[in-house]
Amino acid sequence: MKAIVCDKPFSIGIEDRPAPVRKPGEVMIRIRRVGLCGTDYHIFSGNQPFLAYPRVMGHELAGEVAEVDAGAPLQIGQLVTINPYIPCGTCVACRKQKPNCCVNIKVLGVHVDGGMTEFICVPAHAVIAVDGLSPDQAAMVEFLSVGAHAVRRGQVTKADRALVVGAGPIGVGVALFCTFAGAAVTLIDTSQERLAYARDKVGIEHVKQVGEELQAFLEARSDGEYFDVVFDATGNGKAIEKGFSYVAHGGRYVLVSVVKDTIAFSDPEFHKRETTLLGSRNATREDFEYVIENLRSGAIPSDMLRTHNFDLMDTPTMIKDLIANQGSVLKAIATF
Ligand SMILES: [Zn+2]
Ligand SMILES: [Zn+2]
Repeated sequence: MKAIVCDKPFSIGIEDRPAPVRKPGEVMIRIRRVGLCGTDYHIFSGNQPFLAYPRVMGHELAGEVAEVDAGAPLQIGQLVTINPYIPCGTCVACRKQKPNCCVNIKVLGVHVDGGMTEFICVPAHAVIAVDGLSPDQAAMVEFLSVGAHAVRRGQVTKADRALVVGAGPIGVGVALFCTFAGAAVTLIDTSQERLAYARDKVGIEHVKQVGEELQAFLEARSDGEYFDVVFDATGNGKAIEKGFSYVAHGGRYVLVSVVKDTIAFSDPEFHKRETTLLGSRNATREDFEYVIENLRSGAIPSDMLRTHNFDLMDTPTMIKDLIANQGSVLKAIATF
């Protein structure tokens, strides 16, 4: 079978590999769609520190059940998505029902080979049926779940003025789910192109580009009190540090994006607000189910989230274009 293999940074190609052999308790899936995101771009560019090459990328997956244990609830041919965060089941986080931050987590397409291939075998608990969704929608469940998880972490309600910093795919997802929770949402970014897309195509009404007028805009949006809950989805250490100052007294700050830097903040500013600082990592099955429900109902404008699509076998050439044009790429999905 064909697999897209990144054998070292900036080197990616198509390989012929033997098809996997399914073990009992696993499901074999024929891959139909693979969404690409910043993680894949980082793997390709060699910016993923804990990754051994060669690696088959792909963690935003949709496919059809090809082989499954007799008596399992899944049917051959059924459309599914995969929760790519494979937990150990026994560590301190797993024992607290937080498999998304498992000590020994294996993420498909990062720590172990992922879905840019014809067939993949995964544990049955990682497979989620998505009846009623299109294959493209099924491939969007994972990245949207990361945003849904962050909003759940932030315990957003209709009483909240929420600020989302970063209008990439994760930030746009966070802004959407804050809207669903009833919050008054403001979305900011350095890219006017991304903001215009989020406003005109996805329906996030209140957006503002980072610049001289930003402060006055944020004060007007919050009666000068700043925001009950702030989300960082920038992947930028300086932006994360700046975000502390956008939190209202008594507010929460949820860090969704990950940076390699050390983050510093003023303790008096942090303390006088009694800031609640939260990390948000990956997502759980509960978040996946919530996203699937909202895709099924049409609440999530999924047609607008996908900005690029291409044949999976063209990934080796496409990935460079996608990285070069990140400003205009919200979500790229490869078809197989
Ligand atoms: Zn992703
Ligand atoms: Zn664990």
